[in-house]
Amino acid sequence: MSKNTIKWTKRDKLKTKPDESTLPFGKIFTDYMMKMRYEAGSGWSDPEIVPYGPIELDPAAMVLHYGQTVFEGLKAYRNENGDVQLFRPEENMKRMNRSHRRMSIPEFDGETVLKALSQLIDIEKDWVPSVEGTSLYVRPFVISTQTHLAVHPSDSYEFYIILSPVGSYYPEGINPVKIQVEDEFTRAVKGGTGTAKTGGNYSAGYNAQEKASKSGHAQVLWLDAIEKQYIEEVGSMNVFFKINGEIVTPALSGSILEGVTRKSIIELLHSWEIPVMERKISIQELIQAQKNGTLEEAFGAGTAAVVSPIGSFTYKGVAYKVQDGETGSLTKKLYDTVTGIQTGKLDDPFGWTK
Ligand code: PMP
Repeated sequence: MSKNTIKWTKRDKLKTKPDESTLPFGKIFTDYMMKMRYEAGSGWSDPEIVPYGPIELDPAAMVLHYGQTVFEGLKAYRNENGDVQLFRPEENMKRMNRSHRRMSIPEFDGETVLKALSQLIDIEKDWVPSVEGTSLYVRPFVISTQTHLAVHPSDSYEFYIILSPVGSYYPEGINPVKIQVEDEFTRAVKGGTGTAKTGGNYSAGYNAQEKASKSGHAQVLWLDAIEKQYIEEVGSMNVFFKINGEIVTPALSGSILEGVTRKSIIELLHSWEIPVMERKISIQELIQAQKNGTLEEAFGAGTAAVVSPIGSFTYKGVAYKVQDGETGSLTKKLYDTVTGIQTGKLDDPFGWTK
């Protein structure tokens, strides 16, 4: 499919664009969305572009009852030349198909969807903000639509992509946050759905997040489900530590979501000839490193905030500071480099931007 060949149903009146300097995160949506359908027997339809608006669903639609659904999240940036570029979108398409496999949803052709996305973004290019720290958040998602109160995979689905102009996650720049190590609730278990981006994984984390917020913590640090010892993720981000000069991130154990930011940071560190260990790391090891002064830096990594420094972590009521609670120099360099490549301020030797 070449550019602008997609079926496009226009709306009568376009919305008023928001003020770019005060954009919230994920609350404002553009004029159009991409839609395609799946029907057993005929497979995925061609994508089309339709006005953004409510979705009509039968109350017995399976997604409302059994949660057979998958989503993704990526960003488009306006670069220095005024053009719009996406960051590693093919990685999100691959991960989405992995999530589909886990959730028994039929796979789709990632290239077809990316072409449709690029046409959608082309149509909506005036919605891509240019103020420092802003971007157009892209949210693909799929829902099961068969009307049947029965526990089995749906025979029909709808796939949408919606777009939201978003402000900087941290309007005052990156600031270290306090996190709470969660030793009661579990995010994901090996063999479960933690490696898939499916809605239930997130709502299942709300009670721990509420608990953390009440005690003044910004995020939850998730431990493994069985031994409650090994560190997995922080909030909805992957996590990295610098201990005694070495970068450590939890190995993909079968319950961790493989982040595109995580992968990019590992590739960047390799290119800088800084070794990265993907291995198990226990909360005891982290506490030990903090006590003997070798825990140098800690940060979360994900699309929304890109890199989010961790200033302290609380485990069983005891707070442990990460160094002096300030943003570490490697954390800052990674943030500047990844966002620099994303926005086109820096060269992209990896060919990550599209
Ligand atoms: N872990 C979880 C559970 C997430 O939801 C996300 C956000 N997609 C990440 C990690 C980070 O992934 P990415 O870098 O692709 O945004």
